[in-house]
Amino acid sequence: MGNITFTMIKPEAVEAGNSGAILNKIEAAGFRIVAMKKVHLSEERAGSFYEVHKERPFYGELVEYMCGGPIIAAILEKENAVLDFRTLIGATNPSEAAEGTIRAEFAESLAKNAVHGSDSDENASIEADFHFSTSERF
Ligand code: ATP
Ligand code: MG
Repeated sequence: MGNITFTMIKPEAVEAGNSGAILNKIEAAGFRIVAMKKVHLSEERAGSFYEVHKERPFYGELVEYMCGGPIIAAILEKENAVLDFRTLIGATNPSEAAEGTIRAEFAESLAKNAVHGSDSDENASIEADFHFSTSERF
């Protein structure tokens, strides 16, 4: 029993048929899937999820992209979940992502970078609550 992080497989990776391969890497790295669903976010829900980035120049592009197709959202459990998952996914920009990371293998670009990973325990909890009720967690 460890702590949790929250992830989304982003629309272009779902569309490209990479969900299974990405989930494989996540489980192989020792994360346990606590909750998971495929969902098409509305523009309002995507905007609200990324509210922290509202002032950044790419906010509009980010929201449009994230509601452009279904995503797979999941809560993952592992010791040191947040940091270990950030290591597994690699840098935001795939050209800077270390070899073997999910973004190095599957990201298309800085914007379309295949997966989301929470950046702190506090945000992991907020993001997990945004997508999942208690009865959807196992
Ligand atoms: P995420 O929060 O999705 O795990 P991250 O924490 O590595 O990514 P953030 O700085 O939180 O990076 O940015 C959120 C997302 O916004 C990025 O994953 C990417 O999809 C998009 N993004 C970040 N910077 C840019 C940029 N300069 N131009 C376009 N899109 C960007
Ligand atoms: Mg982030």
